[in-house]
Amino acid sequence: MSLEEFKASALKNEAKQDTVSYIFGPCSAESRDQVLSAAKDISVSFPNAIFRAGIWKPRTRPNNFEGIGEIGLSWLNEVQRESGLRVATEVANTKHVELCLKAGIDILWIGARTTVNPFYVQEIAEALKGCAIPVYVKNPVSPDLSLWLGAIERLENVGIKEIVAIHRGFQVYDPGPYRNAPQWDIPIELMAVRPEIPIICDISHIGGNPSLFQAIAQKALDLNMSGLHIEVHPDPSTALSDAKQQITPEGLNALIRSLHFRRENINDPNYLNVLQKLRNEVDDADEILIRAFVKRMQIIKRIGILKKENDVTILQVERWKTIVDHYLSEGQKLGLSEGFLKGILSFMHDESMRNQHDIMNQ
Ligand code: PEP
Ligand code: MN
Repeated sequence: MSLEEFKASALKNEAKQDTVSYIFGPCSAESRDQVLSAAKDISVSFPNAIFRAGIWKPRTRPNNFEGIGEIGLSWLNEVQRESGLRVATEVANTKHVELCLKAGIDILWIGARTTVNPFYVQEIAEALKGCAIPVYVKNPVSPDLSLWLGAIERLENVGIKEIVAIHRGFQVYDPGPYRNAPQWDIPIELMAVRPEIPIICDISHIGGNPSLFQAIAQKALDLNMSGLHIEVHPDPSTALSDAKQQITPEGLNALIRSLHFRRENINDPNYLNVLQKLRNEVDDADEILIRAFVKRMQIIKRIGILKKENDVTILQVERWKTIVDHYLSEGQKLGLSEGFLKGILSFMHDESMRNQHDIMNQ
């Protein structure tokens, strides 16, 4: 790369950093001082950020802080005036929508517990008919892309033009170290089917704990997501909701500084040439994999026929355990991760059992 080309690409890299959207602010608006203090600090470092604060809070259990209510809207108006930041809050019913529109809130978001219910989303969409306000749609709590797409479509049907998806992770049986499992394949599928809808990653609700934030945020940027959503509180330990997943404005500055912003693409012919060669190699490897799976399933079917003829069950659990133990250990020695091996083996086994079950019932 010539010096000129290098400088041009470095500039593009900075440009990428400038195009990432940010939504920062406390989980809940708690007091006028808390809201204004958070907004002031955020606006100093991120003058283009959107300031978020929940006014009506969906809480899993009753008798918790359920939001400050309507008074919070006037604090958000002060944020608009004093910091110049655009402000966003969650709406879950027609009344919330009407109050926000009257107050001149800049952006509304639909929460994960609302996206999950088409009746609620439809009610909100109808209240928004003919409005020019941008609406951000959090993924439903359950790992279901159709519900997420459905909510987006309901808003499109009433004429909302600016729709952004927020990926906040999913409630699953085993979320691993996360509060809500990221299940990256779901937002990636959303990007594939609706490439024009920007996706912002809510690292607070995915992580649940600041020790995970850097890795989640970096992953979101590496997947070329459009922005980051982070809960920011002047004093997280005293927060009335989601205390464990909020960081201070100083913590936020350090976190964003630690991230690496990459470009989606470059036009360097050397890079493109090597990339194409490697992609051809990957295509060849995938071809071999698919053919190996075909061969495996053909053999599995022959085993199925043999078991049927001899009136033997399709599952011999000891044999399956031996296969898993063997390939888990061999595969890890060869550098594959345990999670990947477990996933592949379990998929392969499910499909094999399904094939043999079909043969038994023919
Ligand atoms: C929130 O953003 O504070 C919130 C309630 O989020 P979610 O709907 O993703 O749980
Ligand atoms: Mn929250």
